Formats: sequence, C-alpha cells, structure tokens
Amino acid sequence: MDDKLDFIKRNLDSVMERIEKAAQRSGRNARDIKLIAVTKTVEPEKILKTIDEGILDLGENRVQELTGKYDIIDRKCNWHLIGHLQTNKVKYIIDKVKLIHSVDRLELAQEINKRAQSHGITVDVLVQVNVSGEESKFGVALEEAREMVEKMSAFSNIRIRGFMTMAPFAENPESIRYVFSKLRDFSIDIRKENLDNNNMDILSMGMSNDFEVAIEEGSNMVRIGTALFGKRIYT
Ligand SMILES: *Cc1c(COP(=O)(O)O)cnc(C)c1O
Repeated sequence: MDDKLDFIKRNLDSVMERIEKAAQRSGRNARDIKLIAVTKTVEPEKILKTIDEGILDLGENRVQELTGKYDIIDRKCNWHLIGHLQTNKVKYIIDKVKLIHSVDRLELAQEINKRAQSHGITVDVLVQVNVSGEESKFGVALEEAREMVEKMSAFSNIRIRGFMTMAPFAENPESIRYVFSKLRDFSIDIRKENLDNNNMDILSMGMSNDFEVAIEEGSNMVRIGTALFGKRIYT
C-alpha cells in the first residue's frame, strides 16, 4: 500500500465520524446517509484508494471527465453526474450513470427520457433546485419546481428520486440552514401528491463546508470532495 495515499483513509474516517454524529442529532443512523465522493480533478490512483476503502459512489460534474474515468477506473462502482448537463451530452452518459443529480429544466428531462427509452432502461434522476436564488447557481427556482416535477412524471423512462441543491458558500453554515430545511419541507409536500414515475426518497444536500447542517435538516446523500481529497488543483 502506498503510504502517501493514507491521508485519504484518515480524511474518510473523520468525515464518517462527522456524518455519524450529525445523523444522530437528526435522530437517524449513519447507514441512512449515502456518501458520494466527489472525484472531479482527482487522480485515478486516489480514486482507486477511495474505492478500496469501501466508497463505491463517485461524483463528477463534467461529462467528459466522467466518461474518461469510467473507462480508466476498471472497478465496480456507481457514477453520479452532479454538475450542469447539456442536452447534447446526455447520450454519452445515459448508460453509465447511477443517478443524475442535476436535472434543472424540462427539455433536459425529456432528452434523458428519450435516450433512456432507446436503451431500454429507466434512469434515476434528481431535480436540482436553486433554493437561495443565487444567480451563479444552476437549478430550477423553488416556485417552479412543482410544475416541473408534475410534467416530468409523464416520462416513463425516468424515475424522479428526489431533489438536489447547492447552498451558497457561507463562512458560517448556520446562515444557510434554511436552504436545506426549505427543500426538505418541499420534498415532503410533493411526496404527498403521489405522482407517477416518482419515488421521492433522496435529498442530495451538503458538501464539505456544510454537510453536517444539511444532514441535520434531513439530507440523506452528501457530496464531498475537498474534505476527502484536499483542495482541488485545476490544471
Ligand atoms: C464540487 C462539487 C461538490 C463537492 O464540493 P466540496 O466542497 O469539495 O466538497 C459537491 N457538489 C457539486 C455539485 C460539486 O460540483
């Protein structure tokens, strides 16, 4: 084993412990919270180490990086697309991803449905909601999310599994707690509609800076990069 990769195990242990404590504070078990290791910009050897440590869910935000790593990382693992998805790139990932977290417009949902249909598969998706209204963030506005989900329920080759949001960066994550609680309340609300082709069981909320608050507010899927791999180096 390569000693210089041991930091990943230490970081992972620490993140897991923090997830466990936050889960307890929200009256849940850490088993109910899925950790997605966000591997964008991370080298394959570090990704393999992470898989060896038992983390099989990997998140990428770019199609090209995801498909490149999909070919290189020759292991059984689950790829999550967590970043903005252009409609013309759906075809490259449709049969490779476990979950698309970033459906933010109806045309994208329609294209995913069409491509899924031609592959004879059903694809799990989350609707990305821009709760804070921050302009730099993708996602459908909370006020428009219901209508979008209702229309999406007509697409029989996608299964709406829930919602994803990115909170604005905050020095103090307490100041963005409302982002997570609003989306949780909304998801509880819309679950009552019992729409077709939906199975609203996932709330993908929380990154390195705010995952504990997100879990306290009901997140059951956290997307963590920096706290596992260190600061990203973009080349
Ligand atoms: C990069 C990224 C993350 C991980 O961010 P960290 O702060 O490094 O944990 C989570 N979600 C999305 C959508 C991202 O693009």
